Amino acid sequence: MTDYDVLIVGGGPAGLSAALNLGRSMARVLVVDADRPRNAATLNSHGFLTRDGVPPFELRRIAREELAAYPNVEIRSRVRVTALAAADARWAATDLGSAATDVGSVATDAGFPVIDVGSAARAGSTATRDGSPAGFRAEVGRRGPTETVSARAVLLATGLRETLPDVPNLRGFYGMSLFSCAACDAWELRGRELALIGETPDLAERARLIAHWTTRLTVFTHGSEAVTTAEEAELAAAGVSVVREPIEELVGDRGRIEAVRVAGGGTHAVGGGFVRPEWDADLSFLGDLAPDRDAAGHVTTDRSGRTTVPGLYAAGDVAAPGPQQLIVAAGAGARVAAVIMHDAIGVATAH
Ligand SMILES: Cc1cc2nc3c(=O)[nH]c(=O)nc-3n(C[C@H](O)[C@H](O)[C@H](O)COP(=O)(O)OP(=O)(O)OC[C@H]3O[C@@H](n4cnc5c(N)ncnc54)[C@H](O)[C@@H]3O)c2cc1C
Repeated sequence: MTDYDVLIVGGGPAGLSAALNLGRSMARVLVVDADRPRNAATLNSHGFLTRDGVPPFELRRIAREELAAYPNVEIRSRVRVTALAAADARWAATDLGSAATDVGSVATDAGFPVIDVGSAARAGSTATRDGSPAGFRAEVGRRGPTETVSARAVLLATGLRETLPDVPNLRGFYGMSLFSCAACDAWELRGRELALIGETPDLAERARLIAHWTTRLTVFTHGSEAVTTAEEAELAAAGVSVVREPIEELVGDRGRIEAVRVAGGGTHAVGGGFVRPEWDADLSFLGDLAPDRDAAGHVTTDRSGRTTVPGLYAAGDVAAPGPQQLIVAAGAGARVAAVIMHDAIGVATAH
């Protein structure tokens, strides 16, 4: 079994940003990434300063390339953490003085000889700030476990799974002319005739948001009761129409949507649009570890990313309030990395 200071579950912007900052903090880090990000459907990512319009996999490639400079950060790709349990893992203490002044000496084939995290580590203690024991053991593999690792702290950065409305051939347009995040993709669709497809009770609210980018919006409830009659009247007053018939087919070519055909024969021309997926956090690998979660299943944390389980942290989309943006996830990863180090060393200070 290999010992790490921090195990990061998930290698999206939250996990990789945490890995970068923890690597620079001299922690021995393992990132385990199933490599199935939610945004895989899209061709271009927007809104990430200095990387506006970059393909999502290019963003990951650059991040991993940067991490290659840190011998104390390992990445296992296309494997998952399949089980996580509490265990007596320790921050292995070495003399920070010599390690800090000669980084070359710590980059050995045997791996990074970890860090001196202060008096708690020097005493060989596994106590957390609240005095409870902490540490984790994880199983890593593709389907079943192929490797067992231990870590003093674990960061959940697993993102979210999403389920699209059950509309025929929707997948063929998702990420190319139908999107889920207005802040990410509405600019490219501004002023067009747009569709909003969904079945959840927040659909009218989403419509009001998207109507900010176009005056020509039609909401398709796909036979559901997602929009109340009162909401429909409000939307109509704002120039937004509601179509309640089930969708029979999305019409278009090579990912570009051109029309929505509904039951009864109606066809509505559109030049793009949005869907409202449902999201869930797939954390079945947590077993008996049960951090508090909100009503939608996102892991709740304090402002710094600590969950209610000592030593277990969460950042990015998996943490409440849920789906955000790449740069927000990356920022949360950087913030929680500092907090993990501060908790280990036993200091409350910011940077
Ligand atoms: C179609 C689409 C388009 C988008 N466009 C934009 C955009 O233009 N701009 C923008 O800012 N945001 C965009 N987003 C949102 C953005 O992708 C997310 O907010 C962001 O990726 C969240 O980062 P994350 O690190 O929390 O999770 P993710 O990027 O989802 O990464 C989580 C990783 O954890 C892995 N994982 C999950 N479980 C395990 C496990 N048990 N073991 C190991 N690994 C695991 C997953 O496979 C995945 O690789 C878009 C989202 C979608 C769906």
